[in-house]
Amino acid sequence: MGDRREQRRRARWMEEQLRALDRLDARHGLGASPFTVARPRPRRTYGPALVGLGVVLVLLVAGFLTSTDPQVARVRELFGIEVTPTGDVPGAHYTFMQHQQGSPEPIGYDPCTPIRYEVNAAGAPEDYLEYVETSVERVSEASGLVFEYVGLTDSRNFDLDGDVAGRPPVLVGWATEDEYEPLAGNVAGVAGSAALPVFPGHAQYVTGRVVLDTEVFGSSAFTGHQLQPIVDHEFAHLVGLDHVEDPGELMDTDGTAVTRFGEGDLAGLARLGALPCL
Ligand SMILES: [Zn+2]
Repeated sequence: MGDRREQRRRARWMEEQLRALDRLDARHGLGASPFTVARPRPRRTYGPALVGLGVVLVLLVAGFLTSTDPQVARVRELFGIEVTPTGDVPGAHYTFMQHQQGSPEPIGYDPCTPIRYEVNAAGAPEDYLEYVETSVERVSEASGLVFEYVGLTDSRNFDLDGDVAGRPPVLVGWATEDEYEPLAGNVAGVAGSAALPVFPGHAQYVTGRVVLDTEVFGSSAFTGHQLQPIVDHEFAHLVGLDHVEDPGELMDTDGTAVTRFGEGDLAGLARLGALPCL
């Protein structure tokens, strides 16, 4: 008797969560086709854009991550919350920017092809290359993905307009919020990649960009020790890692509690580097 009441209560709770998800989906496009340019993901935003994250937190109750209930699995899939595979750190949190259509498998870069990147140094701090190279090294070490520095560029195509199918190098640059609106407010950086189908049902990132806030990086209020984690965070977005609600991870939405990748970040990056080569 008590069991049945508990089951009903649980079913009702799940229905509420799914309804909340549908609303979120309508508002934020969680179920959008992966075959589009990834929308920029601000590192630090406050206000309406974070409305959905309270729901994520609500979902992270005991049993949610391990339940085999198909409804729970659907919620996990919709949010891109992965059950950590055997061998990973138990309970480590990570999510992905985009998934293959109808699958929990993430979209990422081809691990067998170097990710070529170029840097626009206009508006950058003096030691810009050190920031970039450090992040490249850290993401590469965690994922196994290989990066290749092409050189400096004048391009300011931060919206990735044009021929992404021609696989132009990833663009890394600095801008003000006047030039690049997604940096408005308390956003220190924005990054993301564009996916294209490589065969039916399977998409891959072909290029991307990392845009950092000129004012933040030029401000004497921040030290290199505080700025490097911002670049690391953005490079993790670039290769496919999304936010989690966990102050122990560098991909935490707020992202202020730690300065290095956490266990979940590292596990997520490892998965992105272990995708099939094509
Ligand atoms: Zn972010």
